[in-house]
Amino acid sequence: MLKTYKIVITGQVQGVGFRPFVYVLAEQFNLKGTVSNNEEGVIIYVSGSKNNILSFYNSLIDNPPKVSKINNHSLQEIEVKRFDDFQIIPSQKNSKLNLQLTPDFAICEDCKDDISDSKNRRYLYPFTTCVNCGPRWAITNTFPFERNHTSINEFEMCEDCKNEYTNPTNRRFHSQTNSCSTCGISIILNDTKGILLKIPKADIFKTIATLLKDGKIIAIKNTSGYLLCCDASNKLVVQKLRSKKNRPHKPFAILYPSLKLLKKHLDVNTNQQKALTSTERPIVIISKTNFKGNLDLEDLAPNLNQLGVMLPYSGILQLLAAELTIPIVATSGNLHGSPIISNNEESEDVLQHIADYFLHHNLKIINPQDDSVVKFSTTFNHEVLFRRSRGYAPNYFGVNLPNNNKIMAMGSHLKSTIAYLPNDYLYISQYLGNLDNYDVYNRFTQTSKKFINLFEQKPDVLLVDKHPTYQSTLFGIELSKKWQTRLYKIQHHKAHFTSVLGEHNLFNTGDSILGVIWDGTGYGDDDNIWGGEFFNYQSKKIERISHFEYFDWLAGDKMAKEPKLSLLSLANDNMQSVLKDKFSKEEISIYQSLKKQNRLKTSSVGRLFDAVASILNICDINTYEGEAAILLENRIINYSLDNCKSYCTIIDDNKIPTKQLLKNLYLDFKRGASKEDVITSFLYTLASIIFQIANHNNLKRIALSGGVFQNTVLIDMLKEMAQSEYKLYFNRNLAPNDENISYGQIMYYLNCTKD
Ligand SMILES: [Zn+2]
Ligand SMILES: [Zn+2]
Repeated sequence: MLKTYKIVITGQVQGVGFRPFVYVLAEQFNLKGTVSNNEEGVIIYVSGSKNNILSFYNSLIDNPPKVSKINNHSLQEIEVKRFDDFQIIPSQKNSKLNLQLTPDFAICEDCKDDISDSKNRRYLYPFTTCVNCGPRWAITNTFPFERNHTSINEFEMCEDCKNEYTNPTNRRFHSQTNSCSTCGISIILNDTKGILLKIPKADIFKTIATLLKDGKIIAIKNTSGYLLCCDASNKLVVQKLRSKKNRPHKPFAILYPSLKLLKKHLDVNTNQQKALTSTERPIVIISKTNFKGNLDLEDLAPNLNQLGVMLPYSGILQLLAAELTIPIVATSGNLHGSPIISNNEESEDVLQHIADYFLHHNLKIINPQDDSVVKFSTTFNHEVLFRRSRGYAPNYFGVNLPNNNKIMAMGSHLKSTIAYLPNDYLYISQYLGNLDNYDVYNRFTQTSKKFINLFEQKPDVLLVDKHPTYQSTLFGIELSKKWQTRLYKIQHHKAHFTSVLGEHNLFNTGDSILGVIWDGTGYGDDDNIWGGEFFNYQSKKIERISHFEYFDWLAGDKMAKEPKLSLLSLANDNMQSVLKDKFSKEEISIYQSLKKQNRLKTSSVGRLFDAVASILNICDINTYEGEAAILLENRIINYSLDNCKSYCTIIDDNKIPTKQLLKNLYLDFKRGASKEDVITSFLYTLASIIFQIANHNNLKRIALSGGVFQNTVLIDMLKEMAQSEYKLYFNRNLAPNDENISYGQIMYYLNCTKD
């Protein structure tokens, strides 16, 4: 008997080849009906026998298209409808968007084969994509995901492409980003004067490879923004790029042409390889111990024992890789601190003093994104996301949220992101950067507008950090005035804490949970600068139970840039001789008198790391954010807890004696302990403090967040020491740094405020 069913599938189901997949499957099961995208996901109507429909449904759910992620699915019998055949019908959008947006996907193996096969019609075509791969979020104006909602729409498909698009057996059946060299995007290579190089089109990547090997810097427009590239083995050009980018020490990411060469040079474990070849394809930070290549790693990653590497993720990078036998530097195309550039004219304007040549193309990038960055800890292979951008943004795959409000969270300041909860899903923007930079700030405000336009609704609650002068806070206040919207201020470290509680769905367990939130700075409830905080969460309430003993915050923003100032603030009389080497007499007397009048205090563990780096003469001035802490961590190749000593214990009422800790550390160093041993014991001391506080307060569940927990040695130590007695929770789909603040603000608002 003929039956008709309606099937609704939600999740990451648009722009992933879902409709063509359903079409082919329906034909296999002899079913008639329709499939379409709508504002919620994919809607299928099928008519046929009940058994056939059920088998079709189960097969679809058990074995969906490769890059899709199903969130929910439902099957419902409806009044019988008669269809002549099975059809993919155009998107129907009746109400506001309520679906997961699709991130960019790295080029798939099939498309890689196509562009490297001289007999294939896509041979050497850099924008080769299919339903399983290619840019999505980067080129999307709006959803549902259809060609006319993307910037690919400027290119009309040729007959051959149309044939693929309409052929159910083709991998490009209904592929919205389908194009080829006849109808699609074109590339040009020019010098800094805009003069095109006179070479056949087919030779462009060969030419770029030659130019790179000749020591030239090339700005390459990729699908998510410009990259600045140069030969990683050429010391001179790497130094030139450093000086032109005003980036003296910050490590460069290295693009390897193949996994094979990468594995020849570096030890890559299973987890690292999986990340390197995933559809997200981030930069993976790998230990450079046992490096067997011919690169001068001191130039690429000064003073570090690690290297950020990645594999080609777009057709452009793949075609370049095919001509290269060498790894190249591939760093975001921007000036120091500015956002990644994605516009042709702007790139020529801004990068002409850095690059020697430009590879442009005429596909418009709507949402520029940096490369994402991940790292795995050595012992426990714990994955830490350092930067969440291309491949991950803007979806957040977390717990379902009961919510009636439309909430926008403006996040933090240094590593800003925006989070929006306009419907059943939560979206977190790509990493945007430091809002002190005017262009980053502009991209930040545009991103908030983009979200509002995309979902066609303004927020009715705006969440901001408590810091009175964060640009994100001021912007949130401005919007709330303009729209008469409710504004809510949330303390920075509490937002970090709730980001972990949210990621692990811990709000309603009934247990008390210890929050250990350590970072550089955040505006505290008592107007001091917090950063070494311990909280207790229970029944929707967060209480601060302890913190690192306060020390003086000196010289405003300068303190975060100059680790020696943290040392000066924490130094006791025995350390005066060390200070004399780092400051002039005048400076010391100025700072000493500042200290006497100073009212602004801090509990920042980030600054404690700075003081340790300075006292060990490892770093007095940061040239990039977090440099001192990164240098400390990188001194440790391996450690044994048995050889560690503790530099302080907590005092009965939960107090952590910060100055005592530094004093004992310095004594150990003066007695001849090596820098490596001192750093290991310092990290061990920090880990011990966490368990002492947990013990003292009878807490077995510990949630940890804040930039300090990017330190994978500390994470390994904590995991080793926790054993089965304590349960540790870290951020997992989000970075532990300030990128998670916007999400944490929403979690705080939903779970810790009475509304
Ligand atoms: Zn593909
Ligand atoms: Zn074509």
